Amino acid sequence: MLNNPAIFDTATPEQAIEFARLYQQAIASISQGILISGPDRLTLSVNAAFETMTGYSQIELAGQPCTVLQGPQTCAETIHRMRSALDAGQPFTGELLNYRKDGTTFWNALSVIPVFGSDALLTHFVGIQRDISDQRLAREQINRLSHFDGLTGLPNRTLLANRCSHDISMAQRDGRPMAMMMLGLDRFKIINDTLGHAVGDEVLKQFSQRISGALRDQDTVARVGGDEFVLVLPGNTPEGATHLAIKLLHLVAQPYRVNSMELNITTSIGVAIYPGDGQDFEALFKSAEVAMHQAKELGRGKYRFFSAEMFENTLAKVTMVAALRSAIAQDQLHLHYQPFVDLQTGQVGGMEALVRWSHPELGAVSPACFIPVAEQSGLIVEIGVWVLRQACRDMRDWMDQGIEVPQVSINVSPVQFRDSALLQQIEATLQEFSIEPHRICIEVTEGALMEDVTHSEMLLRSLKALGLKLALDDFGTGYSSLSYLKLFPFDKVKIDQSFVRDISKSSQDAVIAKVVIAMAHGLGLRVTAEGVETEVQCEFMRSNVCDEIQGFFFSRPLPKAEMEALLNADRRLPEHLMRVRVKTRTLLLVDDEPNVISALKRLLRPDGYRILTAGSAQEGLALLAQNPVDIIVSDQRMPGMTGVEFLRQAKNLYPDTIRIVLSGYTELQSVTDAINEGAVYRFLTKPWEDSQLRSFIEEAFVHKELADENRQLNLKIRTANQELASSNRQLQEVLDHKQQQIARGERSLNVVRNALQSLPMPVIGLDDEGLVAFVNRQAQSLFINNLGLLGSEIANSLPALHELLTITPEGKFGLTDINHQAYRVQWHSMGEQSTSSGKIVTLCLDEAFA
Ligand code: C2E
Ligand code: MG
Ligand code: MG
Repeated sequence: MLNNPAIFDTATPEQAIEFARLYQQAIASISQGILISGPDRLTLSVNAAFETMTGYSQIELAGQPCTVLQGPQTCAETIHRMRSALDAGQPFTGELLNYRKDGTTFWNALSVIPVFGSDALLTHFVGIQRDISDQRLAREQINRLSHFDGLTGLPNRTLLANRCSHDISMAQRDGRPMAMMMLGLDRFKIINDTLGHAVGDEVLKQFSQRISGALRDQDTVARVGGDEFVLVLPGNTPEGATHLAIKLLHLVAQPYRVNSMELNITTSIGVAIYPGDGQDFEALFKSAEVAMHQAKELGRGKYRFFSAEMFENTLAKVTMVAALRSAIAQDQLHLHYQPFVDLQTGQVGGMEALVRWSHPELGAVSPACFIPVAEQSGLIVEIGVWVLRQACRDMRDWMDQGIEVPQVSINVSPVQFRDSALLQQIEATLQEFSIEPHRICIEVTEGALMEDVTHSEMLLRSLKALGLKLALDDFGTGYSSLSYLKLFPFDKVKIDQSFVRDISKSSQDAVIAKVVIAMAHGLGLRVTAEGVETEVQCEFMRSNVCDEIQGFFFSRPLPKAEMEALLNADRRLPEHLMRVRVKTRTLLLVDDEPNVISALKRLLRPDGYRILTAGSAQEGLALLAQNPVDIIVSDQRMPGMTGVEFLRQAKNLYPDTIRIVLSGYTELQSVTDAINEGAVYRFLTKPWEDSQLRSFIEEAFVHKELADENRQLNLKIRTANQELASSNRQLQEVLDHKQQQIARGERSLNVVRNALQSLPMPVIGLDDEGLVAFVNRQAQSLFINNLGLLGSEIANSLPALHELLTITPEGKFGLTDINHQAYRVQWHSMGEQSTSSGKIVTLCLDEAFA
């Protein structure tokens, strides 16, 4: 009617006044805010809903410009659009951020309709306002959740795909280049698992801030996986991308400070260039991913461009498959064995069978090269059968010779894991060669397990039931946490050599290795350190209570005959590297005068010490390098090097030894200095008093043993503390996880509630006792007369609807009449997974009767 003010022209003045009153009443009762202005856009009147919505009253607005709700944050472009429409006499609709009288803002869904008189002249503007702040908020929340990563706030893969497609179309239009980079944090998972998720999350946040800070406005950075990020760089040439990759590698390799800890993490970067490496988002993404994996293979902290040569590799592989296929038949495969040593006893505790391929032209091909090819081509199944049979055949042979054969470990590839014949094959082979199952340990990598967790668990349990031992190989290179792996019945864990390699250089690797040992022990698993190449690494493993070591330090993988010799010779770890040392009191005497040495030996022999003797400092040092020594007694005046100098060196190299110097009074000054700096424990004067010397030495041994015991005790306490810390960490992780779940639950509840609120149809929620638990806005306005609907029993407040619900089956439609309008009513039960049995009821205007 408002659109037809012609009525005013034909009516009598009395009728016109009456109409005007009626309009006013109608407008006043409308729940949306209405503002009516003249053609000069000065306010004539507003209704009650407008007053409530904005805080302005009719009296203060009358005669004021109708732009009163606009403010600094109102979008200038929307205002401009509105003005142009209204200037052209067109209606306008749009969403604006408006200001209430108290300065607070709200989102206004505004429609302005120009009203014309019978002479086609503009007479009024009618503005209809709806506060849609809640809907906007819900919309924004849903938008955020579906387009951004919760932790870092960066776009997720969906948004990345959108932006990238847009950038590609711009690049195509302008003929400009573009680059995509994939950044993967190296070995991030293990940091997460050993140092805790809170630390991991913090690193990810700092990492994402660093890369975001290095990019231009037009670039996009997104988090596309737990530890993977993708950069889309419009306009970037390969040179530009190289420059940026180097800069990023440097930037992200700077230490991260988390809870007063300093962490070093590197990143591998794969680069793909549009359009050569991919014409659309998916293709570019794939290429960048391939390049990143290649970069990882180069070692940590490297970047690599995608290249056609990566495809050429595939071609080379095809040739290799053909050669490998004939390798078995032509007897080109054989086995090497690499022993593990038990750090407790120093003895060989087992050996790993490692396959070798000698190709007539290529020579020795590394398994690191051909195993992956064998896996891809499925040939690994055949190779696996060969390895198992050969290992059993060799064991049988050794046993028949009367050699004491320790456990033999056999690697099983993920592909063999999928083969249903595996279990039976192993069982049959063991029977054929009469090998007891406990003598064989099966090594699997995490990759094999994760492909199908349920199947893996079943298969491992069956292998276990056969009596075989099980080891988790290369731990730390995969993605699962140790606590998750306790699902599987492993006997031991092998720490991957990449962690062992840098133990003495990287405190972080050292912490990780220690925590893995403590956690594995906490789960009742034995721990083997792989790739131990030096005494320092071995010593680290010993002092951190690792159970076994494997690596070049003790022995390289050996051909069968050499392994046999090693077993026959009963080669062991040197005593000083074993976890429990055999206690012989060892004394080293150093003097250049042979008769002094003989006199001392004679004097001390009855005390039962193991006595080593040296005629010079150099000889003394050589003996120390080969023997564990408790006490050193050295003459002061010796040619070449004085006793004090020698003991200083001994202190630096073997700080746990007790050092005693024999000297005349004349050399007192230099000896006193040495005592003061701790290089010398005692000095004895020449000539000595027999009984005094003996009791001095006895006392020094007691002192040394006490100190040793203290060190051992310390070691045990540290292990216990580590275990405690690790279980605390696990507990904390569980708590954090629960809390996150609750927070997520709350968030999604809010979103759902907001979404339901703004649905354009009436929605009512009923709890399991038939009480009205939820009424959305549309329902509220539909049942406007039923004040107090919320919380009422539906049987009382809406009896007709209640009856309909009881006779209409779930999901079917029922018809009802509300305010003389036909509505289709449908209900569904709520909470499939919960115990609640409430109903959600939706009403829909039945178009057929509308
Ligand atoms: P793996 O099972 O982790 O075996 C340990 C690898 O580390 C072996 O490499 C071994 O030679 C090497 N290694 C041992 N000690 C040291 C050390 O101190 N320093 C260094 N740098 N390396 C050390 P290899 O023999 O080249 O085998 C590589 C991988 O190939 C094995 O890793 C295993 O995953 C796979 N493989 C070997 N033989 C077989 C087999 O019979 N079947 C299957 N499915 N896989 C096998
Ligand atoms: Mg292995
Ligand atoms: Mg390994």
